[in-house]
Amino acid sequence: MANRCPAYRMVRLPERMAQNFGGTTVVSFDAEGTLVTHAFSRAIWREVVPELYGRARGLSAVEAAERVFAEYETIGPGREEWYDIGYWFRRFGLGDPGPVMEQRRTTVELYPEVPAVLQSLSSRYRLVVASSTPVEFLEPMLRDVRHLFGGVFSSTSECGRLKDEQFFRRLALRLDVDAGAIVHVGDNWERDYLSASAAGCVALFLDRASSTAGGLANLRDLQARLDSSSSSSTGAGGGSAAA
Ligand SMILES: [Mg+2]
Repeated sequence: MANRCPAYRMVRLPERMAQNFGGTTVVSFDAEGTLVTHAFSRAIWREVVPELYGRARGLSAVEAAERVFAEYETIGPGREEWYDIGYWFRRFGLGDPGPVMEQRRTTVELYPEVPAVLQSLSSRYRLVVASSTPVEFLEPMLRDVRHLFGGVFSSTSECGRLKDEQFFRRLALRLDVDAGAIVHVGDNWERDYLSASAAGCVALFLDRASSTAGGLANLRDLQARLDSSSSSSTGAGGGSAAA
């Protein structure tokens, strides 16, 4: 794992740079909670796997779920296998996860503003997805908007761990831009806001419940801030519209 995701030297940027969109060329999005709801992942982990497990062993739904969830806990989120749906299907003898994941794709829910916002931003910025969700989930989740993204990056599939500062530093290297040219938006304070900020990205916290002062309530707010910044930067002296 360490070889796949080497550490990069930490260089912290001045705080005020985290509030300036002037040099933005890339807009990076978290996936679950930001572009799509958690419904698809939950359906797979909490319904599909227990259903198949119970059917294979003749267990009730409740008993199957209890056993599967207990098995999950024997691995835990600190290990790479936790995120690997192929591992769990092999471990439980459930066959190929692909077809059943495809069947449950009906549970994928993009947030309503997402297609129009992505369409608009894609004409001005390189759009990427930077997610902790494994690629096996990201592909069906994002299929309807995938053509609008220049890249989809998964920290768990690439590094076996949740998004951290090194992941965002590596993202900038792979996109061949300074981290400060990336605006990253996501709904997890630690994984999206703190990790991306620490790497030097311009991080924006998405709070769809609107309970956090200064956070974005949805992606239209992101678009408005980027629009405001670009219009003020063409006016008097460059803008920093971010909060
Ligand atoms: Mg999220």
